[in-house]
Amino acid sequence: MNAQREGARARAAIYTRISKDLQLEGLGVARQLKDCLALAAKQDWEVVEKFEDNDISASGGKVRPDYDRLKAFMEAGAVDVVVVYSADRLHRNSRELEDWIDLASATGINIHSATNGSIDLSTPDGQTMARVVTAFAAGEVAKTRMRITRKHLELAEAGAWPGQKCYGFTAGGKVIEEEAAIIREMAARVLAGEGINAIARDLTERGIPTARAAAWRAASVINILKAPRIAGLRVHKGKVASKGQWPAIVSEDVSAMLRAKFAPGRSGGKRGGPRKHLLTGLLKCSKCGTGMVKSINGKSKKPSYRCPRNVGAAACGGTTIVAAETESWVIEAALRLHDVSVLKQSSDSEEWLEKSGALDARLEELAGDYGTGTISRGEWMAAKSAIERAKAALPVPVMRPPKLSTGEMVRDSWEDMPVSARRAILDAVFVKIVVLPRRHVTGLKAFDPDRLSPEWWR
Ligand SMILES: [Zn+2]
Repeated sequence: MNAQREGARARAAIYTRISKDLQLEGLGVARQLKDCLALAAKQDWEVVEKFEDNDISASGGKVRPDYDRLKAFMEAGAVDVVVVYSADRLHRNSRELEDWIDLASATGINIHSATNGSIDLSTPDGQTMARVVTAFAAGEVAKTRMRITRKHLELAEAGAWPGQKCYGFTAGGKVIEEEAAIIREMAARVLAGEGINAIARDLTERGIPTARAAAWRAASVINILKAPRIAGLRVHKGKVASKGQWPAIVSEDVSAMLRAKFAPGRSGGKRGGPRKHLLTGLLKCSKCGTGMVKSINGKSKKPSYRCPRNVGAAACGGTTIVAAETESWVIEAALRLHDVSVLKQSSDSEEWLEKSGALDARLEELAGDYGTGTISRGEWMAAKSAIERAKAALPVPVMRPPKLSTGEMVRDSWEDMPVSARRAILDAVFVKIVVLPRRHVTGLKAFDPDRLSPEWWR
């Protein structure tokens, strides 16, 4: 069955392969080749051609030009014997081995492995032997893979530090205090509704170093804040697996809120708060003192603020002012302040943000659990309504923005702020703005700024 020619030395082809697995085991091409050449020398074969495929290349092992070339070589009867490094190493999977067996059977050419005591794939015994060796090798690979997977899971469940340097922590999981302070500041500002871009810009301008000494970007702020590790939580396969063995920089609730905020599908803080109209209640009717509400003016059809005529006996319904220009004027007046560093985040709004955000995050988690079948629909509905009741029971405080240093900074982030955050700033600047009656003077434009009489906090 061997196509060996009479009286001549057998012609041998050597096939080696570069692969990550083999290289990790120190079985680079040089080593494979050396062993194959040694076998050929021992058998007194004449090496006529060497073939080499590279599994690490861009083709990812799917295309093996030299395997095909070798096949053509064998089919053309240009070799008598093929030497490969090792049946169990080179044929890590059975399908690949079957390819070699088919090739050996079809061409009647022996395929010897440099290890495994020269298994001859062209004979049925050799084929059986190769299949057994390959099956064992595949089993070893699977077991190793499982051991590694289990080890990773064990580490995750034990809350081990994932082991790389990231913003706020050293490579060993120790807190870097200066960076931790920045993380806390970013979290507070984001949760108070400040824009991500404005925060990144501010940090860059202040010369705060990033992890890689570059400029701050919105993405870097988000990536830091949405990582559960800042709350001391260990993530495994994208999910929180355990409490980590390292200190938390922010509370778990704050982290849950941040994650919910940056979850895919959320518009990242551009959602309006509970308030829909910027000046409702802040503007007071000069005739009766009632807080004005937004509506469409009956005559001009323009959005306007008016004294609500029908609410109780106190409201007179006698004052109306156009909304757009009034809002612009008030915003401008507030932002023109040279210094609004008086603004402080009140503890009750911080608490409300934390609590309601944590409840929202829990609702999302529950929905996820229901989605993945961890809990039943009934359990989900029950838990959902309990959380919604708890949320409704939270007293809603007056929202205050975080401490901001200049009016310029507020202006920067104004566009990104939800109405509730904008309003919180106005509330921190104005006690109220009294709207005086329309003056009947000829030539006066529709909007008369002299009608607005602000009272400032001192
Ligand atoms: Zn009134």
